[in-house]
Order: sequence, then structure tokens, then C-alpha cells
Amino acid sequence: MEDSEYWNPFLETLPPEKIRSLQLEKFQRIFRWTYDHSRFHRSLYERAGIRPEDIRSFDDIRHVPTVEKSMMRDIQRKAPFPYGDALCVPLEEVTEFRQTSGTTGQPVYQPDTWQDWEWWAECWAFILWAQGYRPSDRVFIPFGYNVFVAFWAGHYGAEKIGCEVVPGGVLDTKARILKIQELRPTAMMATPTYVLGMADTARNKMGLNPAEMSIEKITCAGEPGASIPTTKRRMEQAWGAKAYDHAGATEIGAWSFECTAQPGGLHVNEAFFLVEIVDVDTGELIEDPGKKGKMVITAFDRVAQPCVRFDSKDIIEWAEETCPCGRTFRLIKGGVIGRADDITKVKGVLLAPSAIEEVVRGIDGLADEYEVVVEKRGDMDHITLKVELLPGRESAKEKIEAELKDQLRLKTNLGYHLEFHEYGTLPRYEVKARRFKDMRKGH
Ligand SMILES: [Zn+2]
Repeated sequence: MEDSEYWNPFLETLPPEKIRSLQLEKFQRIFRWTYDHSRFHRSLYERAGIRPEDIRSFDDIRHVPTVEKSMMRDIQRKAPFPYGDALCVPLEEVTEFRQTSGTTGQPVYQPDTWQDWEWWAECWAFILWAQGYRPSDRVFIPFGYNVFVAFWAGHYGAEKIGCEVVPGGVLDTKARILKIQELRPTAMMATPTYVLGMADTARNKMGLNPAEMSIEKITCAGEPGASIPTTKRRMEQAWGAKAYDHAGATEIGAWSFECTAQPGGLHVNEAFFLVEIVDVDTGELIEDPGKKGKMVITAFDRVAQPCVRFDSKDIIEWAEETCPCGRTFRLIKGGVIGRADDITKVKGVLLAPSAIEEVVRGIDGLADEYEVVVEKRGDMDHITLKVELLPGRESAKEKIEAELKDQLRLKTNLGYHLEFHEYGTLPRYEVKARRFKDMRKGH
């Protein structure tokens, strides 16, 4: 088992046409389950005039109404408390409570049965095995375990494949670094922001070099950073380790992962999820590589509160290439590029926050933190970018500023008002960073 490259050699190398027929069959099954057991979904589908027997092909799937997060919020005012009428199982079968992080509004509650929780761990087993985790690994999780699903499932997934797991729950950053020194774990899981923050604390507050510690691989989640080349490079250099991306969500599951081939994108776990990409404006299906759209996703095997054609607002695109690792699961290029809500028009130009991050993290002399504020001044959109110089680089400020301006203009086609802040003064984040503020929308 330990020699196998794949967690599930059968599913991960299925020929594409076999994956498609498996997906259709599994969609039919979860659709019927949802139709029969969720009052919310039943009424949605009855209004659209769609019954389980109408789903005979992929084209039929396109006619199934999508579900948005705002709808999930409304559900929760209904019985049974606290989940509402999308719950497909008796309340006593629920064993896990989670909630979304609430970065885009009121959190959504997510119930899971024990079977669902097993499924979460299985999804993570695909991720971790593809990133080189094996039973001989000791995995440190520097994460404040709480009501968010983040890394809970990673914890169980790592146990499932046989790793030894060290929970770094209530420790502060310094204590976590000391724990890494003491126990010599080979892997860890954290948000990109925190991976960089820990390295910064180790170097600048403790006089330790994280690259000389024992970490060989880092699994990132929660933010797209590990798919942004310059952020990935900073993490890998800081820790002397490989940094891998993964994308998942509380109400969806752990649906994608980067593999050790680091192909510049994420594999979609197509045996467990159906990912559709649709045009943001027209809603038309995008099947060809190279065109961005938003993701509509179905989790085939989650039963308590199903995820069927969920409009995730994540912006993604299919990659042209197949992956040298041999997995037949399709790749999305560059990971999750942003959220439809965040990709905003400034001065008539589409701006993705990840493009700014790529520029900032690519400039030698700038610290990892930054903040973007978009506001209206008179009739004009005005963008302020706040950055920090690394200690000892003050004399190079003019050169750095000029390079930053050029790169921003080149990569985003926009002009910025630049603010240089003293090192260590911009906000530091542990879980979900809020570095992009659009004051035109009030947040
Ligand atoms: Zn691969």
C-alpha cells in the first residue's frame, strides 16, 4: 500500500468516459435522495418541474436549479432547529456540527452524519496521499480547532491514511514553533497566511530558521495562496518544504487537490464531485479550457444536508494539460482564482485580488502582508495598496516602489496609491485573511 502512488488506484486512473458515466449515475442517486428527503430541495425542483426520472443525461443535469448560499441561510429559520428543512436525515443521526466562516455574511450551519464524516476523511485521504503523505509521516496541525471545518477533516484524513497527528490547537504561534522543534513533524497543514506568519515569527522573534526544521511538506487550505506562484515560492523557501494547495468548503467538501507533480493547478476529485463551470454573465456551460467562469458543484455522497448544483461563486477554469502524475481527474488551472463577489470592476477593469498578491509577494524587499482598499472619491474609483518593507530595506524603498508600480500596472492594468507601512503594523491573520476591502460595497 505504501508503495502505491495513488490512494485509490482504480478511481484516480479511470478513463475519462468511465468517470463521466460514474458521475451521471452518482448524480442520479444523490438527486433522488435529495428529492425524496429534503423539503427545501423538493419544493425547488417541483417549481422547476424536474423529477428524478427526468435526469437521463448530462444535458438534463443542466436544468436542475442551482442553490445559492443565501438560500441556505433562509432554510435555517425553519424546523428542525438549527439546520432547517434541507436536512435529509432524522436529527438524531447527525453527529457533526460545523458552520461556514461567515466572511461573506451570516454563517451557514452544516450537519453531517457519521457516514458523511467518514466521507470527509476519505476525501482528505485522496488529497494527502497525492501530496506524498504516508503512514510514516508525523503531521502537525497548528490550527485553533473550533466550529469551522477547516483542518478538522484534514486531521481525520491524516489519521485514516495512517499518519501520526499532533493537534496544535490552543497553542500560540511561538509555542507551536517550539513544538515543531521538539517533535520534528514532517508535515503540517495551515492557511498560506499562517504558514508565512509562523516563519516570520520564528525568524524575527525567536531567531530560528524554519528552513532548518523538519517540515518537508505543507498542505494549504482556506485561501488560494499555494496556487499563487510567488506566494508558493515564499512558503517553500521559508520552510525548505514543498507547499501544496487544496480547495474545499464547509458546505461542499474537500473537492480538489494539488499533487506532488505540482502541475500549476488542482485535480478535481471527479469520483466524488461534479464540477461544472458556467459563464458568470450568461450562465452558459464552459467545457473548454482557457475560459474562466464560476463553479457549480455537486457532492455525490454527502447525505445529511446535500450539496447539489451549489453555486459556489468560485472563479475557476479548466487546464489544457493532463497531469504527469497519471491521474485522470481533470485539472483546474491555477487553483481557485477568486470569488465572483471579489472579482470586481475597478475603473471598468476586472480586478482579482490574487493578481495583486502575486505582484506583492514577487518583489524582493516587501514583507508578506498587504492590504487593498477600493473606494469612490468623487466619481473616481481609487485603489490604495498598503505594503510593508522588510526590516533593513529602507534604503531601497524608491527602487522597490518603482518596481511595484510597474508590476502592478503590467499585471492588473490599474494605477494604485501606494502606502508604505512600518514592518509588523498591518493586520496579521491566522485563518481567513481579509486583505481586500471594497468600501464601495460597504466592507
Ligand atoms: Zn497530478
